[in-house]
Amino acid sequence: MVRRWQKTQLGQYLTQALPVEEDDISPERLKRALNRVQIGLLPFISGSVAILFLLYAGVQALFLQEFGMPLYVAVALISATLLLPLQWLSQRISLPEQWVNPLFAFIAGLVLLSMLLRQFLTAELKQTANLILFLVAISVFFTTARWLYGLIGVTLLGWALSAFWPLAGQRAADWGFYAVVMLAAAITAVILHQARIAALTRITMLQFKERQQRRALQRRTMQLQTSADIGQQITSILDLERLLRQVAELIQQRYNLHYVGVFLLTPPRKIVIAAEAGERLPEHGSNLQISHHGLIGRALASGQPQRVSDLQNDPDYLPHESLAGARSELILPLKTGKQQLGVLDLQSSLRNAFAAAEVPIFQLLADQVTAALENARLYNEVKQFNQQLEQKVAERTEALQQANARLERLDKTKTDFITISSHELRTPLTILTFYSQMFLDDETIQADESYLKWANGIHQGAMRMEEVVERMLDVAKIDSMSLRLFPAPVKLPFLLSSIRHRFRQDLAARNLTLTIGDLSPLPEIEADAEALQKVFYHLLINAIKYTPDGGDITVNGRFHPAVDSQPDSVEITIADTGIGINPDVQELIFEKFYQTGDVQLHSSGKSSFKGGGAGLGLAIARGIVTAHNGRIWAESPGYDETNCPGSRFHVRLPVKQPV
Ligand code: ADP
Repeated sequence: MVRRWQKTQLGQYLTQALPVEEDDISPERLKRALNRVQIGLLPFISGSVAILFLLYAGVQALFLQEFGMPLYVAVALISATLLLPLQWLSQRISLPEQWVNPLFAFIAGLVLLSMLLRQFLTAELKQTANLILFLVAISVFFTTARWLYGLIGVTLLGWALSAFWPLAGQRAADWGFYAVVMLAAAITAVILHQARIAALTRITMLQFKERQQRRALQRRTMQLQTSADIGQQITSILDLERLLRQVAELIQQRYNLHYVGVFLLTPPRKIVIAAEAGERLPEHGSNLQISHHGLIGRALASGQPQRVSDLQNDPDYLPHESLAGARSELILPLKTGKQQLGVLDLQSSLRNAFAAAEVPIFQLLADQVTAALENARLYNEVKQFNQQLEQKVAERTEALQQANARLERLDKTKTDFITISSHELRTPLTILTFYSQMFLDDETIQADESYLKWANGIHQGAMRMEEVVERMLDVAKIDSMSLRLFPAPVKLPFLLSSIRHRFRQDLAARNLTLTIGDLSPLPEIEADAEALQKVFYHLLINAIKYTPDGGDITVNGRFHPAVDSQPDSVEITIADTGIGINPDVQELIFEKFYQTGDVQLHSSGKSSFKGGGAGLGLAIARGIVTAHNGRIWAESPGYDETNCPGSRFHVRLPVKQPV
């Protein structure tokens, strides 16, 4: 029918004026819709025709009183009696739409009967005017031309018979004229009918389309909303099991689906249900046994969505009792790149529930589920990693604490050893020094060169030992925090030149130059002069020891005015042209007993190049400087005995000691 009306001129005009794609509207559906529209007119038309019959009966009985009046009135009343219940009925119940044409033919037939009766009985051709009106009026009665043609045929036949009726003929001359007008009316009726049906079809199609689009829009909106809701859940729920369950429930409820399942692949080749939701799902889940043979297996094998419009006709469908009632199914793969994670299974109790055009949108939902799986996987990995890390940190901390405790014990043992041994050594040393001095003072010994040399050796050795013991005592005091300072104003130029005096011989022996810059602008500082002497003694003796013969040692000083919380301070720098210190040990050298290089290889002279020491000098220096609220540090490009890059030791001391 659609195709036929389109071929008419009006059809073409309307097609252009109201463009509609009608591919998906079946002619059957369209016909049913047209019949429905027409049947809607039934109460009005049957009612108004019934009223017309009643009026006609009244007018005929009271005013016209033509020949055959009782018969006209009877037929009119019977017609009205038949039509009124039809009007009543059609208003209350919806009559089957396929009855529309016979019912309208029935109404038209009643009207035609009355008219022909009058035509025949009055035998006047002018009655033809009624039939002409009738022909035009019935153009709006039918939805198919067949019925219209039929009725026009009956009308024309009836009228033609009336022309030959024995009573007719008085005006036989006008017969031809009326015949032409009747034919014209019939043709007009056909044209009107076609135009009306064309317009009605078009409007109905537009209504269809509009409804379809509205539904599609609603579905899209819902899909987008679902997608957004899933997205929101993905970002807010990290517990994978809960997330998948909520996503399954959300999809199932939004799309009113029979069943929604999320199936995951677990190594090596097992498929497990991760979450499911359904209309009639048993409380403890469907208990599905999923195999690689069914539709899910097909989706996993192909990596492509599987859309089955009618499950009964799919050989791969494996029905399951707890999911009975599923008619169509859409299985979407969950995959990242090439890796298959599982599938999202949607089942509907309706046939054809998933349109091909919707598959990409459903795939979008599946991709969101994939993203959730990925998120959860990453989250779990991070969580696991964190747990491992925490465990490692705990283990390491424990190990460090143990090591620390061991070191503390060791350090204490060292300090105890230093304290005890230095105290124990002191008394015999004093005796040794005293008697060696006596030897030196003895005239007999002085007279003999060899004796004098031996006595000198003993005395120097004793003095050296005394020095070492003194250092050990200093370190012990620093370690036990019992170093006592007696701060007083100290003139640094004076202090440093007195120390220089002590090294005169050593410098000369090693051909070293010690230059002390102009320290006179430096302010007097508050410090323990004796302790400070030790600091610079150790720094200078080190500079001498670690600088090859012929090198230079320079002492400089500068004043630092107070900045922020730092008080006024002075900084003394002792630079040498010696072997240098590697950056990685520049802090370690301040630890007690720390020595770089092989201790066995040290020479024994106090001031000889790389002369041996106990590794206590810098520890004592730092202890004293720190006790003065100062700072001591070393700088050197590195250790290199060939090129001798040199070292710089900085001592920064506050001008005033805090109260
Ligand atoms: P030591 O009695 O061995 O000199 P110190 O505590 O005075 O002990 O010094 C520790 C280590 O620091 C030394 O063994 C040496 O390796 C390094 N060191 C100290 N001063 C210098 C310097 N001026 N040049 C190069 N190395 C130095």
